[in-house]
Order: sequence, then structure tokens, then C-alpha cells
Amino acid sequence: MSSATELVEISFEGRYTLPEVEILSDTAEEIRRKQERVRALCAERNAILLAHHYQRPEVQEVADAVADSLRLSQTAAKTDADVIVFAGVHFMAETAAIICPDKRVLLPDLRAGCSLAASVTPEELREWKARLPGAVVVSYINTSAAVKAESDYCCTSANAAKVVGAIPADRTVLFLPDQFLASVVARQTRRSNIVAYPGYCHVHKTIQPDQVAGLLSDHPDIELLLHPECGCVSSCMAKAMDGTLPQDRTFFLSTEGMLRHIGESPATEFAVGTELGILHQLGKKYSQKRFYPVNEKAVCAFMKTITLDRVIRSLETLEPQVRVPEEIARKAKRAIDRMLELA
Ligand code: SF4
Repeated sequence: MSSATELVEISFEGRYTLPEVEILSDTAEEIRRKQERVRALCAERNAILLAHHYQRPEVQEVADAVADSLRLSQTAAKTDADVIVFAGVHFMAETAAIICPDKRVLLPDLRAGCSLAASVTPEELREWKARLPGAVVVSYINTSAAVKAESDYCCTSANAAKVVGAIPADRTVLFLPDQFLASVVARQTRRSNIVAYPGYCHVHKTIQPDQVAGLLSDHPDIELLLHPECGCVSSCMAKAMDGTLPQDRTFFLSTEGMLRHIGESPATEFAVGTELGILHQLGKKYSQKRFYPVNEKAVCAFMKTITLDRVIRSLETLEPQVRVPEEIARKAKRAIDRMLELA
């Protein structure tokens, strides 16, 4: 893998405003009543509520589907509901709006952005394309619709290697915006012609090798499940290769991949390197197994803006609606369709 900026550390923090994570004090009874209201409104509006794994537990509990970006996109593509409420972040709602142009797509809080998506603009991508004529552009789903419109393929962490593997081996691939996922894909596809854009997710970047090592020393038989966006992936991959980390117990997986892997693994203890919201589904599905977050502070403030109150208000008012300009949607859809074909 190569990177045109490999010696330059770029900071993207100035590009977004992190919302404050509200601590809610609803009682169990209040939560139950709000969830009932959500279900009643969904029925009234012929709406479907789609929730990402990083959402608050009470929102996950009331959703029609809880999944990663890829599966949520597939669910959006198949639904016959009139309204899609996205309990996720802005690029996910945009993707649903592009796939389902005849539906009303709601994002209950427009502050739900994404630091990773903010790290590349369409203007920057056009500059990179001009520097790398002939390169095939693969954009992670965590990008704006305008960036997808400039891309040849879209992918998620669940199918990135498959998408890149489908590109002829002699073509240079410009992979963006996540530099850590790019390094995992380069390793998985054994390609040396992947140029990585230097973006990152501010949450996953804080998941570091020393935290992984600490868990391993406290729990010697633990399996290490690391999201490919994590700041530790390059180092952990190298350590797994040289035997510093147990190669047979170190896995780089999407959130859906983690859920699947745990179900198939005989192990009982897992270090989970991703946003903490996933622990809700893990604990629910595999109550007999034990999960330890690699970084207990890995919380996405953008995801946590979505509350039951905001979902209710959104269903009542049918706002805020996410729309994508037609020309951008048409171009972005090519890249998204290719991703869905290779899912
Ligand atoms: S966890 Fe990171 S990549 Fe995911 S939505 Fe939050 S900021 Fe974006």
C-alpha cells in the first residue's frame, strides 16, 4: 500500500462539531411508553425504523432492524414502507435516500454527522483523482453522497476486500477515506497498488495497541476482535504476523462480522475493539459469553444524538427529511449499486 501523504499527519478535527452526549434519566416505564409510541407512529406512518449497532440500547430495542451500514442499506432497498427513519448518521440516511428515491427518509437529529465522512470533500477527491489518472476510486460508505458521486465503487467494512478484489490487479486503487481500513484491505487482497487517503474516525482512532495488550495480559485466552477502522490495526496486524499477538485469535471484523464470528467461535471471552453500542447486541445474543471493550471511552457522540424523543418527534412531524440532489444521487447510485451487487 502506498499513500501520497504517508509522511504527513493530517488532522481533520476542525471540520466538525462534536455534539455533547446527553445522559438520559428516563425510568424503565418511561422508556417502555416512548417505545410504544414509536411503534404506534411507525404503524400510522407506514414507517420502518432502521438502527445502527452504535445506537443507544433503547433505540436498538424498538427498531425494525439493527445492523451495520451494509445490511441497513440492503434492508432499505427492500422495504415497502413509505417512510424510513434512520437511527444512524447522515451518510446512512443519504444512502437510503439515494437507494429509495420514492420514500421519505428521516434523520431524527441533523447533528448526527461522522468525523470520517467529514475527512474528505468532493473537491479534495477531484484533486486526488487528477494526481492519480486512471486509478479506480473505492469510497467507504462513510462518505457524503457528493463524494460517492465522484467514486467508481462504494464499500463497507464488511465487503471492502471483496469490492477491491473485484478490480483488475493491474489497476491502481484510490481507497478513501479511512487509512486504517485501507491497510487491512491491502493486507487481505495482497495488493501493493492501493493508495490510501489519510482520513480516520475519531472514535476508532483512539483504540490503541497498548489497550489490546493490556486486555490480553489480563485474559490470556481472550479472542481479539478489532474493527478495521481502529487506530491499532496496522500495528496489531504486524504483531499478529510476528507472533507478538496470537495470530489464531486476532480478527479484523466489521460489526456484523463480529456478531457472526462470536456465534461460531468456541471462545467465551472476547476483546471488542469498536464503538461501545455493539455491546448491547452482543450481550443480548450471547449472554453466556463475556465481552471486554478495548477502549471503554469509544463512544460516538454523533450516533448518540438519536434518542427516543427525537425519533418520536421525527415520526410526528415527518422531519428532518434527508434529500440528495438528483444529479448527485444519480452518479452516487452507480457506486452504491456496485457495492450492493458485491455484498
Ligand atoms: S463511529 Fe466513527 S465512523 Fe462511525 S459514525 Fe461515528 S464518527 Fe463516523
